[in-house]
Amino acid sequence: MICPFCSMKDTKVIDSRLVANGGQVRRRRECIMCHERFTTFEMAELVMPRIVKRDGSREPFNEDKLRAGMLRALEKRPVSTEQIEEQINRINSSLRATGEREVASELIGNLIMDALKTLDKVAYVRFASVYRSFKDIREFGEEIARLDDQDKPTG
Ligand SMILES: [Zn+2]
Repeated sequence: MICPFCSMKDTKVIDSRLVANGGQVRRRRECIMCHERFTTFEMAELVMPRIVKRDGSREPFNEDKLRAGMLRALEKRPVSTEQIEEQINRINSSLRATGEREVASELIGNLIMDALKTLDKVAYVRFASVYRSFKDIREFGEEIARLDDQDKPTG
């Protein structure tokens, strides 16, 4: 860390402790050149990445929009609110875990498809048919056939 007093490129940490109930690290630093002391605070950046859409435009991540999309696919399906919220939390965590400031909208689409596949196959096919915009009815049929295969017991 650069010294804010003399712009020396190297400063040393002379004390380090957890503050804010462990949510932050407070560090006392001393410049090896001018010996001025200063304090820094470090905390995890829990900011959701912004979404880069296919046309290159950016928009903030919107959990309500995510939920609305999933609920639309899950309409009249036997899936509880609790199950849906669990999957939404999982998607939120996955996005934060990327550590990226921006992610492609495709990533969200894929996370939603994974979540729906876990929750309900009909909802998955509904969402995928819109999201992937299957080129023709055959491609759509192949996707459904693949899901049926997964249901069959092996052996
Ligand atoms: Zn200095």
